[in-house]
This record gives sequence, structure tokens and C-alpha cells, in this order.
Amino acid sequence: MMKIMSDYFYDLNDAAKSKVRKVAWCTSVGPAELLRAMGFAVHFPENHAAMLGATRMATELIPEANTIGYSPDICSYLTADIGAYLKKVSPLAKAYPGIDAPPRPDILVYNTNQCRDVQDWFNWYGEKFNVPSIGVYTHRNIGEVTEAHIASIAKQMEALVEPLEKVSGTKFELDALKEAVRLSRDCSDIWKQILDAAAAVPSPLTFFDGTTLMGPAVVGRGTQKTLDVYEILLAELKERVKNAEGAVDKEHHRIYWDGMPVWGRLSAHSKLFAGLNANVIASTYCNSWIFSALDPEDPFNSMARAYTELFIVRSDDEKEKYIREMLEFFKIDGIIYHDSKTCPNNTNCRYGMPQRLEGLTGIPSLTIHGDLNDLRLVSDEQTNTNVEAFIEQLEERQ
Ligand code: SF4
Repeated sequence: MMKIMSDYFYDLNDAAKSKVRKVAWCTSVGPAELLRAMGFAVHFPENHAAMLGATRMATELIPEANTIGYSPDICSYLTADIGAYLKKVSPLAKAYPGIDAPPRPDILVYNTNQCRDVQDWFNWYGEKFNVPSIGVYTHRNIGEVTEAHIASIAKQMEALVEPLEKVSGTKFELDALKEAVRLSRDCSDIWKQILDAAAAVPSPLTFFDGTTLMGPAVVGRGTQKTLDVYEILLAELKERVKNAEGAVDKEHHRIYWDGMPVWGRLSAHSKLFAGLNANVIASTYCNSWIFSALDPEDPFNSMARAYTELFIVRSDDEKEKYIREMLEFFKIDGIIYHDSKTCPNNTNCRYGMPQRLEGLTGIPSLTIHGDLNDLRLVSDEQTNTNVEAFIEQLEERQ
């Protein structure tokens, strides 16, 4: 895992420094396959922002972006990442000697399927670097995904080709896109098998492991190297399932996590739950990199479908249907909702969902208030007390 991530970052850095390949910045669930097919080295700013969170650098960088007009209430990925640019710091510098900063972009490509913040974020850099910032505008809060939705998104994706050709200096090849979509689909299938391994009792995997293990699925989908590393991981998980080797020593409770992780508290939260004999085994977050609709024979339409059928794009009805299936499949007995202050887009507990789902399934839940990156919004004491009381409540129900 470490090798694949390190190869990825050094390759990006080389592309930007040597100028042999053009660099595209892409949103985490943007059209990465198209960019790879056109020969771009692809950087994902959300990945960099999550690293700022995990290394606990984000909290003091966010005010830098606030001073130039970006509110402390908006996406703390955006504010941390822009803050890091303004302060000229990056966690890459410490982790990968010789790399000072994310690679300079030649073009930025977003999809608003997840939120509007990504567009503002990318446009800011577009102006800063004087390069094009282009994107796909996706319908949001979708119930049934219809042919009309797909046609509109696929057309927008096709329209990206011309500006991308201008920047890359290469001609678009349909076969190259088919190959990138095939590799991405294979990556998605194996990533799904990895996450599904957590359905075993005891689960060989935790959500907290998943947030780190998903690195290659986020930055390396559409590449053979990612497939190779996931084959190794899957084999290891199968072995653990065979030997009934759980990720948590005594797995008394199986928990589902909805919403963003608290990046600066991954280890603390992992220890908190394990210490209470509870395993957080599944999440909507890690599942966001499963794109089962991708079809190499119909690349544009299937990309449009895969990136529109995503959980974050859907209506509450569809989200609830999905979570109910997950609760059953993973044999869950409690749900944690993370009310992440600066990401309403990936927070699902503000409009009655926990109550509706508990009414339908009888599975209780706890909402914890915090944030993905801004640790000033996280109260460890309150989280610990509430989680302990919740697990006690689950204990009494058994
Ligand atoms: S989905 Fe949330 S965390 Fe992700 S970019 Fe949008 S606002 Fe930020």
C-alpha cells in the first residue's frame, strides 16, 4: 500500500516538474477515466485535503482561507487545502522527501455530483494558475436515475474532450477510454469484494482500516497497479475470514458509520470502539468508490450512470433504501451518524433519517457532532461519553 501511494505521488511530481505529461486535477468522483485515457497525470485535491486532516495540519490552515473570504462554515477540505497553498505547506513534504507541494495543474476538472464546493475550490485554483477549470453539472437529490439524467451527464462528459485535447495536445482515442473504464470497473469490483469481506462474523476489517485502504481506489482507479495491490489485500482478508480472525478482539457489536470520517481522530475512534468490544465495520463513505455501472463497451453513458447513481447524489428515500440493505447484509446492531459541521452534503442525519430508519428496522443510532477536518468543531469528551453510553445501551438490548 505504502509503495503504491508513494509511486503515485512521485509520478505526479515528475509529471509536473519534467513537463513530459500534463497534469489534471480531478474531484474524487469526477471523470478520472477520461483524464487517464488522455494521458494526464491525475491529482485529487480531496485526497490532499484528507491528508491535511489526518496529519492534523488542517485546523490551523483553515483560518488562512477564512481571511480571503472562504467561510469557516463551508467545506473544511476546501479551506484546509487553500490554506495550505497560501501557507506553502503540504503533508506530502514530510511523507515523500523531494516533493514540496501538490503538482501544478494544467487543467482542473470537477463534477458537482457531490457538492458545489468543489466547483468554487477548483475555480479558485484555475484563476491562481491561469489554467482552465471545467466541469460537469450533475442533478442532485435524485430518486430514480432516468435515461434523461444519463443523457445530460454523458453529453457534458463528451463535451470535455475538446478542451482536454487542447491542453493535452493529444487526440482522444475511444479505445484508450474503454481500457481506462475497464480497469476502473475491475478496481471497483475488487474494492467491493474487499469491503464485503466485513460481512463475515467476526469482521476481518474495520471502517477505520477502510478509510486508509481506499487510497488506491481513490487515486489509482483506472490503473493496473491498483488492481494488483487489491488482489493481495483480498487474499489476506479471505485468509482471515477462513481463520475467524477478527479486526477487533472481542466483536460484541457491529456498527455502521454514516457520513465522513473525522480524519484527525481515526486512530482515537478506532481505539474507542475496539475498547468497547464494538467494531465499526461498514460505511457509506468507503462504498462511495464502488462504480458497478461502469461498462467499457459504453464508456460515456456508463460513466454518467456510475457517477450519478452514487449515494451522495440521491434522495433520502433512495439513501434509506440503500442503508437498510447495508444493515441487513453486514448484520448491524447500531448506527453512528457523523454530523459533520462543514459538509452538509455528506451528512444525512439532519432531516429525520435516523428516526425513520430506526422506526423501520428497530436498529438504534447515535449522532456524533464533529467535522471531517476542523478539530475545533470536535469535542472528544462528548464523543467518548456518548459512544460509551450508546454501546452500553446496545449491551442492554442483547
Ligand atoms: S462532499 Fe463535503 S467534504 Fe467533499 S468536497 Fe463537498 S463539501 Fe467538501
